[in-house]
Amino acid sequence: MSHETKALYWIPVSNDVVKCELCPHECVIQPNHFGRCHTRQNRDGQLIATNYGRVCSYAYDPIEKKPLLHYQSGSTIFSIGTFGCNLTCDFCQNHELVHFEGEIAPISDRVLLNLAQDQGSIGIAYTYNEPTVWFEYVLHMCKEAKAIGLKNILVTNGFINEEPMMELLPYIDAMNIDLKAMTSSYYQNICGGDLDPVLRTIERCARHTHVEITTLLIDGLNTSKDELEALCQWLSYINPEIPLHLNRYFPNYKMTLPKTRLETLTQARDIAGKYLKHVHVGNAFI
Ligand code: SF4
Ligand code: SF4
Repeated sequence: MSHETKALYWIPVSNDVVKCELCPHECVIQPNHFGRCHTRQNRDGQLIATNYGRVCSYAYDPIEKKPLLHYQSGSTIFSIGTFGCNLTCDFCQNHELVHFEGEIAPISDRVLLNLAQDQGSIGIAYTYNEPTVWFEYVLHMCKEAKAIGLKNILVTNGFINEEPMMELLPYIDAMNIDLKAMTSSYYQNICGGDLDPVLRTIERCARHTHVEITTLLIDGLNTSKDELEALCQWLSYINPEIPLHLNRYFPNYKMTLPKTRLETLTQARDIAGKYLKHVHVGNAFI
């Protein structure tokens, strides 16, 4: 129920300075400062997770909305999120939640678990903002949920270090991971991250649990034939059964480029179909 806890995955550096090792940014954080995700604060040489137990948003969603189209079809999942993200995508659909600073009423584990079993829900989806930056609470609730037979679903950008991901993975029943593009420059310029750590997350998670991938297509940024071929071929090397969701982009937040052309989505679907068995177009009827 607490709204704060001592964080996992950090080391002291010197003179009350700490380094967070939860995600590949590996922020070095001065006393009283926050890391890039604005959720983890150095207080007197201790790293504190300030969003622990702070459920800012929840809803009962069809599992297809996560999107997961090849896992427990037709079921409902209790979905929760908090504030904060370790990326800064120009097109973020959840930017209001990511930057949320208001008061949040506490919710106990027991109430949350009861909600997760209500309305036919099969468990908990950690979604809306980025669950990586909620790591301590997600890990705790995953253990609690698993212990009573509920499912845990992670909807993530995949920008997390190996050790924390491997600690969480045994409790995760299904994931949707963003693969936003197949170039480092896109990740660096549009999202404030990097590609390689995301590829490594996808590779290791797909070995252990059900994984579906989402790529938001934006004309001129990540839709070239070569890039799409590379992305789909790489996924097929891991497993051609991995479902790929090719989503249509609409202008949002800081991104003002026009919405994705329907022809782009059709072409992308055709390319993906050469490599992967399950390709779905989202946010458009084509
Ligand atoms: S989780 Fe936050 S504080 Fe930690 S390295 Fe990533 S961005 Fe920095
Ligand atoms: S990873 Fe998701 S939540 Fe985070 S900034 Fe990007 S779109 Fe928004």
